[in-house]
Amino acid sequence: MDKSYSIEVVCLFCDAALQSEEGKEYEPGDMIKCSECSELNDYDSVLGIAKERGVELVKGEFEKELKSKFKNLFK
Ligand SMILES: [Zn+2]
Repeated sequence: MDKSYSIEVVCLFCDAALQSEEGKEYEPGDMIKCSECSELNDYDSVLGIAKERGVELVKGEFEKELKSKFKNLFK
């Protein structure tokens, strides 16, 4: 499994997708400014939510991957 997942990071205040600056790495403690409502989002909280969503996403992908592997086995 060598895919990169795009996990959407959303604003805690208005639920708009947060745009990270190109190439910028955020670190714990950073604040991400929402382009929609201009509120500052705490990186850790935002990431926590994104992670939860990401886990669900990966789980789904993993199951698909597993199923296709099994299919190949019985070809
Ligand atoms: Zn916002």
